[in-house]
Amino acid sequence: MFKCPSFECDKCARLLLYREENKLKYPCYHNGPVESFGKLNAQVLIVGLAPGLHGANQTDRPFTNDYAGDILYPALKRFGFAQGEYQRQKDDGFELINVRVSNSVRCVPPQNKVTADEIAACRPYLQAEIADMPNLKIIVSLGAVSHGAVLQALKYKKSEFRFAHGAEHNLYNHNIILKDSYHTSRYNINTGVLTEEMFNNIVSDVKKLL
Ligand code: URA
Repeated sequence: MFKCPSFECDKCARLLLYREENKLKYPCYHNGPVESFGKLNAQVLIVGLAPGLHGANQTDRPFTNDYAGDILYPALKRFGFAQGEYQRQKDDGFELINVRVSNSVRCVPPQNKVTADEIAACRPYLQAEIADMPNLKIIVSLGAVSHGAVLQALKYKKSEFRFAHGAEHNLYNHNIILKDSYHTSRYNINTGVLTEEMFNNIVSDVKKLL
């Protein structure tokens, strides 16, 4: 049975230290592992990188109050994967439909950068989550780190599936399609690596695949 890391998960020394610092600096923030958003019976799982300091780490909901969520959630709503008004807080009543949103690493990392060890430490949570999604058909990886984390969680060789925006990989042992997208980060949007139209096309493709 999938169980989110408890608030006191202390597997990653670096993330734990950062959490303790943030508890002092931002005592009203969540400052702990962020549980996924959406139901386990969804057909689609979107996997991001890790909570943002003032976003998911504050609000305790993935991508919530993060710039990346301002791109992700309206796109989901546009294609019928969400309802309600996304208002950047956990209790805004915004609901996901047939989609669950998770992260490769569930605790906020310094400078938004996770290490290979942290991805490995968090892997059992992602594995348990995927195993607990009986209707899962599509995993959308936001960025190359997520792409690698998903492949490793499901025990595929990374060299077998190259990350490319828009690519669809057949995870043959699981009957799951892995769909790649550039991450909806502020950096990618500001540099034009990803546009809202490009991301809308990803979500539209997912809809058609179902
Ligand atoms: N917030 C998250 O929860 N995940 C990301 O990947 C980025 C921002």
